[in-house]
Amino acid sequence: MGKWGFVGLLYFLGSLVAMAKLTDLAEPPDWARLDSFQESISRQEFLTQLNEVYCPRQSWWFPWIEIEEHRARIRKKAGSDEWYDLHFLESNKSVTQSSPSFQISGSKILIDPGHIGGEFSEMEGRHFAIGDENPVKEGELALSVALKLKSELEKKGAVVSLSRKENQPVTQLRPKDFKELAVTWFSRMEWLQKLPSEEISKRIKKREELYFYRVSEILARSDKIKKIKPDLILCIHLNAAPWPDPEKKSLVERNDYHVLVNGCYMGGEIAYDDQRFEMVWRLLNRWENAERFIAEHISKAFAIKTGLPAFAYKGPNALKIGEVEGVWARNLLANRIYEAPVVFLEPYIANSAVVYQRIQLGDYENRKIINGEKRASLVREYVDAVLIGLEQASRQK
Ligand SMILES: [Zn+2]
Repeated sequence: MGKWGFVGLLYFLGSLVAMAKLTDLAEPPDWARLDSFQESISRQEFLTQLNEVYCPRQSWWFPWIEIEEHRARIRKKAGSDEWYDLHFLESNKSVTQSSPSFQISGSKILIDPGHIGGEFSEMEGRHFAIGDENPVKEGELALSVALKLKSELEKKGAVVSLSRKENQPVTQLRPKDFKELAVTWFSRMEWLQKLPSEEISKRIKKREELYFYRVSEILARSDKIKKIKPDLILCIHLNAAPWPDPEKKSLVERNDYHVLVNGCYMGGEIAYDDQRFEMVWRLLNRWENAERFIAEHISKAFAIKTGLPAFAYKGPNALKIGEVEGVWARNLLANRIYEAPVVFLEPYIANSAVVYQRIQLGDYENRKIINGEKRASLVREYVDAVLIGLEQASRQK
């Protein structure tokens, strides 16, 4: 080998390492974790789950997963030629697939109140106020729902934990800890380099905050969850609609609900080594069966309890799952990295006229007349709907 050949080889090896692609703050995946799933799934089932839940366009997964007759080959690292070989269960052998079942009593349920709330609600963009009325903070509403739901589920014999118990972050890190990462991120954004320096500092600051309240916070919760090992995770959120005019906030009319399971990894997402791993990991754990089962029951309960229509996505970032209205798959950080079946709840449009009015009334006993109708408080209605959904799921044999 000549001198240049050697240098060329080093350069080539270096570029392979450099091209491994990870989501910000993610660790390189440990592909050996898939070893326990060798010969556990048939080619047919693997392909069906891939195409109908996890990655609906073949052009999205084609560069990363090769399906052969007896094995799937999954590219371990972007830009490299290392593959993980997953051997299929031979088609003449079959696993007895038990249909999903659920019992509230005895289940280990983790409730994850979305966002942080408190002094962080404005930073995380989950805060709005109309005039000098009480601001609406999604994180705080989610915690109120979570606390009430926890006590109701415990009465029914579930073992319930919360990912957070206050309107405070779980992560110990703060935006300033992500200065370097944010600067590196900015340096990659070539089209932003010409902005005025004031604008550049603003963008970098926003990025530091995002690393804190979203990425680092969800990673911290995920670490907690790994120790608890729940059977089911319920992520509690309220949806919001874009403001018609962000300068002059006026409430919207749209009001609806939807429920998410994990799936619909898009081409740009599956290109990340960690996201590709998580997708295959969730597929092999067959968490989607459990997620869909619970999501469908809760979705039906939302329809009945709230009287709202189901929301329907239009873009490529979400995929309709099953026949029950309102159940969709999306790839979000929380429902991807939390290691258990995750059902992500998005009822109500917080900035709709009716919901806003109900939020302003706070939590109350019994019923109050709203728009000529007697209604429980929004928090109670939310909790009741989830309870009904879980009870229906428990009843199904
Ligand atoms: Zn939310």
